[in-house]
Amino acid sequence: MTEDAFARWDAVYVSGGAPWDIGRPQAAFVALADAGEIGSPVLDSGCGTGEHALMLAERGLTATGVDAAPTAISTARRKALERGLDVTFEVGDVLALDRLDRTFATVIDSGVFHVFDDADRARYVSSLSTVLEPGGVLYLLCFSEATPGDDGPRRVTQAELRAAFADGWRIDRIDAATFEVRAEFPIQPSAWLARIVRD
Ligand code: SAH
Repeated sequence: MTEDAFARWDAVYVSGGAPWDIGRPQAAFVALADAGEIGSPVLDSGCGTGEHALMLAERGLTATGVDAAPTAISTARRKALERGLDVTFEVGDVLALDRLDRTFATVIDSGVFHVFDDADRARYVSSLSTVLEPGGVLYLLCFSEATPGDDGPRRVTQAELRAAFADGWRIDRIDAATFEVRAEFPIQPSAWLARIVRD
């Protein structure tokens, strides 16, 4: 990703106006954690201000969060300190996760896959494959085509998810879910929550 793109994401956090930055984890991921589905160590890819990694660390998992926006990462680190949680938060490019030089049992993606254009989508999927152990699980929450209008990120269909993860992955489930946003966002997004296993 270019420096410009990093700066654009950072600016959203500086402005304080990120609709997805709801100050708590998405209910869809809390339910997965409650069900014991999330294995450790876990990477929160495009972690924003860190609520998912923090929620998982609170439950005893070893959690790492990576995001392009330095402002989001500073906020995430501050929250970890305030909550007495040990989480590694790093500024980085999720299109080049191989730079982490580590692998994870689980990767979670809350609202990141759906920000990329087709070319970056392909790069992202191959980047993810470099950090998941064989048999490791990716949980991905994205806007679905049932979300009205075209405000915000791309709408993603089940067919697009299946196409993106056709090679080297197995899609176990794709369930209808919601993506919680701040009240001032004009619509209530519909989402897909996918469980995708790396071969
Ligand atoms: N997962 C967070 C943030 C979702 S918004 C949450 O649920 O709150 C999408 C996030 O992806 C933003 O924080 C943005 O900074 C990050 N992002 C976008 N492109 C990125 C890239 N190439 N590398 C790392 N982070 C990226």
